[in-house]
Amino acid sequence: MINSSVRRHTDILIIGGGIIGCAIAYYLRKSGREVLVCEQGTIGAQASSAAAGLLAPLGPLSGPGPFADLLLAGYILLPAVAAELEEYTGLRLGYARTGALRVVRNPKRVAHLRKRMEAWRPLGLELHWLSGDEARQYEPQLAPDICAAVYAPQESQIQANALTTAFAQAARQMGAHLYEHTTITGLLLQDARVTGVCTAQEETIACQHLVIATGAWAGQCAEWLHVTLPVTPLHGQMLLLAQPTHPLHTLIFGEALYLVPRGEAVLVGATKDEVGFETRVTDEGIDWLRATAARLVPALQESALLKIWAGLRPRTPDTRPMLGPVAGWENVTLATGHNSVGIMLSAITGQLIAVYLLTGSLPALLQPFVPARFQ
Ligand SMILES: Cc1cc2nc3c(=O)[nH]c(=O)nc-3n(C[C@H](O)[C@H](O)[C@H](O)COP(=O)(O)OP(=O)(O)OC[C@H]3O[C@@H](n4cnc5c(N)ncnc54)[C@H](O)[C@@H]3O)c2cc1C
Repeated sequence: MINSSVRRHTDILIIGGGIIGCAIAYYLRKSGREVLVCEQGTIGAQASSAAAGLLAPLGPLSGPGPFADLLLAGYILLPAVAAELEEYTGLRLGYARTGALRVVRNPKRVAHLRKRMEAWRPLGLELHWLSGDEARQYEPQLAPDICAAVYAPQESQIQANALTTAFAQAARQMGAHLYEHTTITGLLLQDARVTGVCTAQEETIACQHLVIATGAWAGQCAEWLHVTLPVTPLHGQMLLLAQPTHPLHTLIFGEALYLVPRGEAVLVGATKDEVGFETRVTDEGIDWLRATAARLVPALQESALLKIWAGLRPRTPDTRPMLGPVAGWENVTLATGHNSVGIMLSAITGQLIAVYLLTGSLPALLQPFVPARFQ
């Protein structure tokens, strides 16, 4: 909440305290820039704490290209950043290279999986083709009708909410200002520049540069700039189940669902529904997740349901993020539209957007993702 003791001006103002806004703040502070984050709720409480924390780049990729370059750069960067953040904050982020099995139950889908594996090969990750029985040697709890799998031992996971908290805490420790319960309701505009923001408390904060990192809500900020940005919310529900008696230890993808073993529990995700800005969980969603999880690992049928939740992915029409300057505005940068991979892309987004803000030159990795492709 803004009060008389808060700052009324800053060099860089970031709207949105999800993982993307916090990662950008962290990298800007590392370079000594003055930065202030305004979050309408609490830090990381939206998509960033709903996420499973998969660091598994193969799923969204069908081969090399600019998106593979960005995703793999993000995936490679994260372990070192996680270690750095753990050291700096004392938090534990649960990074683990658990490996992943991508499985098929229907023999008619085997050729499709094989084709995907061939398309993934040039990406350079280690891949192994397994029969159903070989897959059950890795995970004995897999259903008996699973007939083939690709094993990718380098795919990993992290605790998404802990990573978000760590970016925020490290940024704060280094001198960033993070204001919670501070909703931005409009912008102060002068010619082609944003000179500040207005808050719901009818106060203003002046800034030299604005970064919009409002996830699924980015479209609203774009309206203030008289531009249209096609970012929409994609609702996702997740379950936390108790581990079966013989616990799972590998990430499992199959039947349009994933299982993430985490200590004594297994995360099951995630549904994909267009229901606007609604974040409720539904009986249909829970039933589908439970039933589908049990088709992959029958022992999960008996597992206790520990928790359910939902979040909103920031979706774009081409499923790629929007990163870089907003055309027509001299001092506005957008960092949103991370769809289902915002945790994996958090560190690379923070690092490269900070480079852009510091140098005025957009790094080559980000150039294919400029918002202008939609504007
Ligand atoms: C169920 C689910 C599972 C997922 N699993 C994974 C996964 O395994 N791996 C992965 O990499 N990604 C995953 N994702 C995607 C990932 O969570 C998102 O891409 C990422 O969290 C987006 O981060 P963000 O900071 O852009 O958005 P958010 O975390 O939503 O943050 C945006 C913030 O902006 C704030 N805000 C909005 N408007 C205003 C305003 N006017 N004023 C002030 N603040 C405002 C919001 O309150 C919010 O906190 C998953 C997502 C979901 C929903």
